[in-house]
Amino acid sequence: MQKTLVLIKPSAIQRSLVGEVVSRFEKKGLQIIGFKMMTLSDDLLKTHYAHLVEKPFFKRIKDSMQVTPVFAMALKGVDAVEVVRKMSGTTNGRNAAPGTIRGDLSMSVQENIVHTSDSPENAAIELDRFFNKDEIFEYEPLIFPHLYANDEF
Ligand code: UDP
Ligand code: MG
Repeated sequence: MQKTLVLIKPSAIQRSLVGEVVSRFEKKGLQIIGFKMMTLSDDLLKTHYAHLVEKPFFKRIKDSMQVTPVFAMALKGVDAVEVVRKMSGTTNGRNAAPGTIRGDLSMSVQENIVHTSDSPENAAIELDRFFNKDEIFEYEPLIFPHLYANDEF
């Protein structure tokens, strides 16, 4: 089983789409193993978006992530990193495929509703960045036999 990070961004909170986003992951069969509201500091955002810090538009991305608190969510499932990333859709909401979160809910590159980890390596790093160890919960959902064949997990 893999674990991955989702951030429900201020664009979703302002538009009252938190429940919609959570519901999609729940209905898919991903297990919520951590969930909290938090304010993102300048330092945390510089680390989290290190690949964008040198871009001229970094400040507007950072400001956009600080308009409201965000919800950080840890999800678990077989191949969870790729499944969640695919469910998010490509970065630009206008190009993202219909059926994806961004494709259905966003008209923007920046205001694109969610962050999702892009690889298992980054998922592990990002979960550590947003969650303390005791904020991630291990529990066996009774529904597992109805989500997976017994040799899939
Ligand atoms: N972003 C933006 N303009 C760009 C590239 C990125 O506003 O040209 C924002 C957007 O909110 C995106 C985030 O910065 O989700 C992180 O960018 P990344 O390329 O990592 O995209 P993601 O992994 O979120 O699809
Ligand atoms: Mg990214």
